[in-house]
Amino acid sequence: MRILIAEDETILAKQVQTALTAEGHAVDVADNGEEAHFLGDTEPYDLMILDLGLPMRDGISVLKQWRADNVNTPVLILTARDGWTDRVDGLDAGADDYLTKPFHMPELVARARALMRRNAATKSAVFARGDVSYDSRNGRVTLNHMPVNLTAQEVAVLSYLFHHANRHVTQTELSEHIYEYDDDRDSNTIAVFITRLRKKLGADLIETERGRGYMIKLAA
Ligand code: CA
Repeated sequence: MRILIAEDETILAKQVQTALTAEGHAVDVADNGEEAHFLGDTEPYDLMILDLGLPMRDGISVLKQWRADNVNTPVLILTARDGWTDRVDGLDAGADDYLTKPFHMPELVARARALMRRNAATKSAVFARGDVSYDSRNGRVTLNHMPVNLTAQEVAVLSYLFHHANRHVTQTELSEHIYEYDDDRDSNTIAVFITRLRKKLGADLIETERGRGYMIKLAA
């Protein structure tokens, strides 16, 4: 999944980025409000983490602009401990959740997971279809309860398809959600990852429809 962190405290931003990258996410960082606004408006994130006290443009203004521009991505705001009015303003401006600083990193990561599966067919952190299961808390994938070794990119593709089960996902969409802003994006490599996933997890896990993309079908 692809995440934006808008945070001007460099060390904190790096810590959050490291924690989310370790979970297999592609993470971009903006250190001011203007850049945050631009990236949020132009890149298809699955979650945006927004510090409200940003230089150049404050977080509430950025959030209001995103929502006015019909950017409906889940937003988690970061606020000061005594900033209860900020939290009210943030939630009213369209934030989905908040954390007060200082926070425990596992809590941020768990809230991030919950927000990103908000529209998923599965409400638990563990996604499963047939004999295959994927645990979004640690990236572990099993087949018949036996661990399967996947590369980070294979896990990222599998994760995105599980989060968007029951609809077709194109190669372009997949590449936009597994690579970071500065990465070289080659949507042809997606086909390679799909082939490897089928080889490792069974041919029927991921369906393909010509021209429409890939799909993991889950029972309703
Ligand atoms: Ca700040």
